[in-house]
Amino acid sequence: MISQRDYYEILGVAKGASAEEIKKAYRKLALKYHPDRNAGDSAAEEKFKELSKAYEILSDPEKRAAYDRFGHAAFEAQGGATGPGFHDPFEIFREVFGGSGLFGEGLFGSLFEEAFGVGGSKRSRQERGADLRCDLEIDFEEAALGCEKHIAFPKLESCAVCGGTGVASGSARKGCPTCHGQGQVRVTRGFLTVAQTCPRCHGTGSVIERPCPTCRGEGRVKQTAEMNIQIPAGIDDGYRLRLAGYGESGASGGPSGDLYVVVHVRRHEVFERQGNDLYCDMPISFVQAALGGEVTVPCLVGKATLKIPAGTQSGQVFRLRGRGVADVHGRGIGDLLVRVTIEVPTRLNAEQRQKLEAFAASCNPDTHPQQEGFLQRAKRFFGAD
Ligand SMILES: [Zn+2]
Ligand SMILES: [Zn+2]
Repeated sequence: MISQRDYYEILGVAKGASAEEIKKAYRKLALKYHPDRNAGDSAAEEKFKELSKAYEILSDPEKRAAYDRFGHAAFEAQGGATGPGFHDPFEIFREVFGGSGLFGEGLFGSLFEEAFGVGGSKRSRQERGADLRCDLEIDFEEAALGCEKHIAFPKLESCAVCGGTGVASGSARKGCPTCHGQGQVRVTRGFLTVAQTCPRCHGTGSVIERPCPTCRGEGRVKQTAEMNIQIPAGIDDGYRLRLAGYGESGASGGPSGDLYVVVHVRRHEVFERQGNDLYCDMPISFVQAALGGEVTVPCLVGKATLKIPAGTQSGQVFRLRGRGVADVHGRGIGDLLVRVTIEVPTRLNAEQRQKLEAFAASCNPDTHPQQEGFLQRAKRFFGAD
């Protein structure tokens, strides 16, 4: 049997202390040792639990009288040092400080779990909310330049009526009567006694007295979540944006999951993208290609002037630096690569035909060196004529 400290000593009051003095002492010490103010300090947590037990006994005239006569033995007889009869320390705390009091309702679940996790026999009621996936289709330019998008998706959200506790207003969670708040029950099988997770509270040690009518005790309700999200410039097809904490609300005040927005980018009519570079095919006339000159190239933003040298060949690629897509991680900006295709004129009128025939007659092997070179190679390969 573990020796226990005297309840009067714990509260620092005299044996004959009045109810008011006991309450005052509890208030002062409970605030000091509340786990919310002593995160991670297990000694403070033990003190807080000890305090609430002492207060629970000494604030009840009947229990106090029994304690005065029999000491701790008065309560141990019912089932061990941590046995039944003691309430959740946070429930006592809330009773004394009133309603949801000093610390928010939402904290209740986590504090309850933490404080009662003695020996690890209890299972958390809390669960992290599920991650959600939302698919978003955007235009090519929106992806390249960034934009703001409105998204709407179904999601389980914390119930606004009960604040996610699942408990009806005016009611509270109470220690599970089946397992007396232990989270486990002992079952005898033959001559073996084994501990089993309590079937009534599923190991949490507490049950809801009256469930919230809106969420039926679940603490969460299905809702359509809507939000605006910033799409960073330079994002590409298939990219996943993670919005931490925007997934489903956790059960019983547990942390929310994450929202993943999977971006799909529509094709562009002119540009193709590879990494941060843009590609486009631009037809020019054979005259432009032969004489050279300036052509106007469409860009993601505005236009650019491209100088085509005389004698430009079909398929030749020109690079316009810095006219591509900004890197999504801020590492520079890509280029625009323009591949020219030479358009052969069609539907010539008589005059145009005449002029081209005159042009052809004036040509010599130097005018079309590629064609000339090909013919020479072919001759060598197949033999003369
Ligand atoms: Zn509710
Ligand atoms: Zn139970």
